Amino acid sequence: MNNTNITPFNKPYLTGKEGHYIYQAVLSGKISGDGIFTKRCHEFFEFTFGFRKCLLTTSCTDALEMASLLIDIKEGDEVIMPSYTFVSTANAFVLRGAKIVFCDSRKDHPGMDEDLIEGLVTERTRAIVPVHYAGIACDMDKIMQVANKYNLYVVEDAAQAIDSYYTGADGVKRPLGSIGHLAAFSFHETKNIMSGEGGMIVINDERFVERAEIIREKGTNRSRFFRGEVDKYGWVDIGSSFLPSDIIAAFLYAQLENLADIQNKRKQIWNQYHTELSELAAKGHFNMPVVPAYASNNSHMFYLVFDSLDERNRVIKSLKDQNIYSVFHYLSLHKSPYYEAKYTGEELPETDRYSDCLLRLPLYYELNPEIVISAIKALF
Ligand SMILES: *Cc1c(COP(=O)(O)O)cnc(C)c1O
Repeated sequence: MNNTNITPFNKPYLTGKEGHYIYQAVLSGKISGDGIFTKRCHEFFEFTFGFRKCLLTTSCTDALEMASLLIDIKEGDEVIMPSYTFVSTANAFVLRGAKIVFCDSRKDHPGMDEDLIEGLVTERTRAIVPVHYAGIACDMDKIMQVANKYNLYVVEDAAQAIDSYYTGADGVKRPLGSIGHLAAFSFHETKNIMSGEGGMIVINDERFVERAEIIREKGTNRSRFFRGEVDKYGWVDIGSSFLPSDIIAAFLYAQLENLADIQNKRKQIWNQYHTELSELAAKGHFNMPVVPAYASNNSHMFYLVFDSLDERNRVIKSLKDQNIYSVFHYLSLHKSPYYEAKYTGEELPETDRYSDCLLRLPLYYELNPEIVISAIKALF
């Protein structure tokens, strides 16, 4: 055992320009929200991915809370989402009084089983919140069809899904985050592109654009005032402070400039894992990620799914003994201490299986995956 050679699960990658841009932001004299770097980030996203309107937020959690406010979630409304997700996906709607209706995961993928959604719709359903787990698209044609049929909103939790795509039945390849009425991205340091903490709401439905600016600016029409569209600004709606300092945006912009390089590097690592572990997968030791034909892979995550909790935990422990840190992921939200007593739905066996059996391997820019691959090979 060699204590100096630790392979962490994640290591934030710095492009080298972050400090320089932060310095520029500081020198510009305007370091509150919506300064020059925030505008550059908005333009980058709108230009690169064709999003209708982007607004940076302080986190994806905040972006989801904004989405919940924008679609006017009220006490007793129902929102359908996977149980295998991060707490923020649910909290954003619970904060407004919604009842969460959890949907089971797919057999071949931790994302929600699109074929189960329609059976969960009731007269109180207001929204569907698909989570693009590991940056792999949910089947958005199926989800939008149900949403259109019952007049529901779709809020994409695209926290992990930057630079990932969905190709629908019409053959058009669309970026994730551009398909639902609203979408939320995360720039937390565990994501492909990061600013420590950070996020963004994407508004694809024109009806929400003006109100999104207001809610993000404490319920004021301050954004219109700064554009010279009104001669004074005031309190016009509910809202909160959802916008990040321009210092955060400066950091993020340095990352965005290197998006292609970061993505290429992550893809190389992901592909190396996939190629070199395929033989063990074929022998039945574990399953590897499935990328459906309609989805692209942004290499956000590489995971293995074992047959049992014991086997998964044995692998975590054995890797840890060699200073390699692999981690499990979500604990089913419908069984969480906070929601279990409130949950009235059915058992979600696939969700529970991923809670017990999924293992995420280290994946970051500077990783040498050979260390992890050879350690795993040695275990079987
Ligand atoms: C990371 C993540 C979030 C939360 O993002 P923050 O920016 O930390 O608030 C929400 N949902 C999913 C699916 C995530 O992976």
